[in-house]
Amino acid sequence: MKKADPFYLSAAWRDIRLAVLRRDRWLCVMCGAKVHYKGMARVDHIVPRRQAPELAMRTDNLRTLCPTCDNKRHIEKGHGGNEWGATKQGQPRDPRHWWNAFDYQKARANDTDE
Ligand SMILES: [Zn+2]
Repeated sequence: MKKADPFYLSAAWRDIRLAVLRRDRWLCVMCGAKVHYKGMARVDHIVPRRQAPELAMRTDNLRTLCPTCDNKRHIEKGHGGNEWGATKQGQPRDPRHWWNAFDYQKARANDTDE
């Protein structure tokens, strides 16, 4: 078993994680799956922490993922390097990023909070 990263054990992270989950209404930003079941919610760093540690606690660099999309994302991270991230204009390159997912607002409109 992997050693737990102390980053994820801090109270500050737990607070910010919850803020991100509430912002995203407990829905995966990629596929729209509900993640409010125990152990389902993943909060992902859009720009990985090792690339931009200064963005680690910024909610605009965080998004809610379900375990399936989280796993896919980590495979992409492993192969893609800097392929994701953002353009010079600050627009995320990832077409499934919630900033690019215009239907996402509609899709989640009918959902209740938590
Ligand atoms: Zn998903």
